Amino acid sequence: MTDKKVRVRFAPSPTGGLHLGGVRTVLFNYLFAKKHHGDFILRIEDTDQTRYVEGAEEYILDCLKWCGLQPDESPVVGGPYAPYRQSERKALYREYAERLVMQGHAYYAFDTAEELDKNRKEIPNFQYGQAYRDSLRNSISLPQHEVDALLDAGTPHVIRIKMPADETISFNDMIRGHVSFETNQVDDKVLLKADGMPTYHLAVVVDDYLMKISHAFRGEEWLPSAPVHLLLWDYLGWKADMPQWAHLPLILKPDGHGKLSKRDGARLGFPVYAMTWFDAKTGELTPGFRELGFLPEAFLNLLATLGWNDGTDQELFTLAELIEKFSLDRVSKAGAKFDFEKAKWFNAEWIKKLNAESLKPKVKAVLEEKGITINNDDYLLTVINLIKDRCVLLADFYQQAGYFFEQPKEYDLNAVKPKWTDAKTDFFNALTALLNSDQTALEAHSFEEAFKALMDEKALKAGDVMLPFRIMLVGGKFGPHVFDIAALLGRQETISRIAKALEAFTA
Ligand code: GLU
Repeated sequence: MTDKKVRVRFAPSPTGGLHLGGVRTVLFNYLFAKKHHGDFILRIEDTDQTRYVEGAEEYILDCLKWCGLQPDESPVVGGPYAPYRQSERKALYREYAERLVMQGHAYYAFDTAEELDKNRKEIPNFQYGQAYRDSLRNSISLPQHEVDALLDAGTPHVIRIKMPADETISFNDMIRGHVSFETNQVDDKVLLKADGMPTYHLAVVVDDYLMKISHAFRGEEWLPSAPVHLLLWDYLGWKADMPQWAHLPLILKPDGHGKLSKRDGARLGFPVYAMTWFDAKTGELTPGFRELGFLPEAFLNLLATLGWNDGTDQELFTLAELIEKFSLDRVSKAGAKFDFEKAKWFNAEWIKKLNAESLKPKVKAVLEEKGITINNDDYLLTVINLIKDRCVLLADFYQQAGYFFEQPKEYDLNAVKPKWTDAKTDFFNALTALLNSDQTALEAHSFEEAFKALMDEKALKAGDVMLPFRIMLVGGKFGPHVFDIAALLGRQETISRIAKALEAFTA
């Protein structure tokens, strides 16, 4: 590590929802920054106006908020290198593009979209680069006076990098080690567009330089762009300040074949986005982990383990532990397979790990969404403690806890009716009488004893009445210890549920 202050950035383009791979990039940036007491910057790369999607920037900000990965500098909180939205920095990029033209490292290109399309159609594997640039319309192929005339006439043009011939460009990636590229294989990328906006390639280099970025983490899909960026850092005379790169391994489909895409999620029935994303242009709704009932703690934990481990068997990490333990030499080069069952396991473990008080607002929201009003927070806390080990997703709290707040709407009649007998009706009537006669009947231990004594008296077995009793109280074959449920519901409510269920069981 250099002794420069650590400054990292997440630089998304606001083009849609945030894939879990994007959040993992945020996380690794964040962990690295916090571990080295550095700054984490959010920069919005919105120079491609054609791909801009309304609402996408707010969505990204919300995602970071939900995950608790708040940037130190951003378009919202500002910072010493504002603005942090590239469209607002438009004016400053041209100077650098022109400087490159002056130096002979870039050139003006006047080809129209139609001309380029024609070439793409007629020439197999057409690339604007060494092979063809001399036969196209640009400031390399045209005489100077023609170029001047075109520029004077305000002819639309772009500025392209001039990729050098026969060079090998290499750098040391913090994860992948030595990486090299042949310049002959890279085309002359556009740096400044006809509308005066920089492309990603120019803007990312200029801004990483101006914002004093020390380390840059991004997905492996950006690796092919690295040679262009390396050359720009060099040509602009900034090489000594270039950030250290880390290209993060891909997140793969569950079967390991190829990058996990939004479509895989739809096909296999799990979310791929952090939060549900509604695309106003297409009307498409893409489900998210948050809405499915994931805790942010679990979501981050599972993302951290996609491509990283601490070298031990530990799987559950708090954010603070991740900051402490994160190290780049334990990030793997190979892609990480996504496993939804494992993702759910993380959530279940985190539900167990968090105390009832911290789960309370989220559980409350789940129940209130289902029309349940909570007016006793202590009761809710007791309920959460009783059932949280049974919940995998936050939404499960409705099934597992709903009956503590409202009577079952349906009963699993198949489990009771076929085997119902008068002796059982008799038993539950006697149980009701017992509850009516004794105010303290439900104090858990003694009630269980009294229940069993009554069972013996009526010559019934546990198998005959325990399950029906559970179904009376909760509606189905689930939930914690039935006597705990009754104790929490209270005497009147237990009596009322027995009466209501008896009607249904004997109808
Ligand atoms: N704007 C790029 C993106 O959308 C950023 C890539 C990088 O980090 O250099 O992911």
